[in-house]
Amino acid sequence: MQKRLSIQTYKEGVLSGNRMILSRAITLIESQLPQDRALAQQLLEQLLPYTGKSIRLGVTGVPGVGKSTFIEVFGKAITALNKKIAVLAIDPTSQITKGSIMGDKTRMEELAHDPLAYIRPSPAGNSLGGVANKTRETILLCEAAQFEVILVETVGVGQSETVVKGMVDFFLLLMLAGAGDELQGIKRGIIEMADAIAITKADGDNMQASNNTRLEYLQALHLYPAAGNGWQTPVLTCSALNNTGIEEIWNTVIAYVNQMQQNGFWLQNRQKQNLEWLHTYIKQTLEEEFFGNPVIKSKMSEIETNILSGKMLAIQGARELLNSIRK
Ligand code: GDP
Repeated sequence: MQKRLSIQTYKEGVLSGNRMILSRAITLIESQLPQDRALAQQLLEQLLPYTGKSIRLGVTGVPGVGKSTFIEVFGKAITALNKKIAVLAIDPTSQITKGSIMGDKTRMEELAHDPLAYIRPSPAGNSLGGVANKTRETILLCEAAQFEVILVETVGVGQSETVVKGMVDFFLLLMLAGAGDELQGIKRGIIEMADAIAITKADGDNMQASNNTRLEYLQALHLYPAAGNGWQTPVLTCSALNNTGIEEIWNTVIAYVNQMQQNGFWLQNRQKQNLEWLHTYIKQTLEEEFFGNPVIKSKMSEIETNILSGKMLAIQGARELLNSIRK
């Protein structure tokens, strides 16, 4: 294991934007060791006054929609404005499929070499909740390291969108042209979460289909109730290949930020997210403590056997287990 640094070294390194130390601070935060947890907690508390100033963006879409190609070009457009961007990836699929959104290929190679950009994959955690916690904390570290835009990437295949939506200011959904009603059906919940939809690969032969799909989504969006924040979700088209429509997406983000800061929703949303984080964290910690408790571990299989054989009701088993660790 790499030696830990002093809290002061982490703090000064992160605040001065030192990437090597930022990376080591993130590793510290990702660690499960109790002594690391304590140090990480202390570091976050000390860095808290320097956090919160970035624009937090979520980007999602099914595998193959063009996320990495888009983020590379989008990220370059942001660094061209002399803004610092950090890209964090939540990868809940890697555990199940052994595949990973990070893949084998080198993703976002150009952006990775940009001095204003920082790319960090998330660890393949056991639970989405666990990964999400580390990502929230990593956002704070990147903000303390003066990153102005933090982009959280996730694969549009399931629950991870809800989790990411709960930690970002703006949620961008990337969609393919002509993917069909079926896919749109699956994506219903996700569409509702989106602050903007961008149809990717709007180039060459795909141009017409992209424009058609754009109109379909615009129509579909009318069926949803208007968001409480007064924002109308725009549907855009873009091509990372031709570098078209990318600037418009950034302009949309800026328009959103301005509108939300003016109408008060920006702060309100972040406050709400912090409360959600509090509650989620409590639930997760209690769950971990419960299932990790040696008394529970030793009794669990017997209770499970009783439930399987019909000798015991699930609710009775649960009560017995809960009572066995109550003081
Ligand atoms: P991800 O799985 O969502 O990260 O998707 P990738 O970025 O790896 O892209 C999937 C495939 O789509 C790759 O073969 C890309 O070359 C291709 N692709 C990505 N963006 C574009 C685009 O703007 N236009 C076209 N024509 N192809 C693209």
